[in-house]
Amino acid sequence: MSRISVSKSGTRSVEGNASLERYAQRFRELRRGLEQIKYFCKGTFLKRMMKCGKARCACASDPTKRHGPYFELTYKANGKTVNVKLSPEAAPLYRAAAQQYRKLKTLLNRLEKLSKNILRHQAKLAESKRQN
Ligand SMILES: [Zn+2]
Repeated sequence: MSRISVSKSGTRSVEGNASLERYAQRFRELRRGLEQIKYFCKGTFLKRMMKCGKARCACASDPTKRHGPYFELTYKANGKTVNVKLSPEAAPLYRAAAQQYRKLKTLLNRLEKLSKNILRHQAKLAESKRQN
């Protein structure tokens, strides 16, 4: 952390407090977003149309005649890609859950960035109060 080598000044400290309060308010707002998160699930939701592999089936030559849709959730676990087949009934649940997961990650990233800013400000304020 960088230190303020210039001696403590009243204006600097007031400025610090003002932006600190702004950050803190934004943090509280974002944190409320966490309460809106519904059941979540890591992964990418896929909707696929498949070829059956039979040479004489229409799907072999015509992409619009492929079978499906088939639904899958794909994610990485221990460095391996995992594909989970989903029933048509389960598909919307997991599609929504995957969306919630992305939302949660975005929210966490924002909260972390904000936290870092707040910590930096708090450290500066604390450092500026140091007696020389
Ligand atoms: Zn086919």
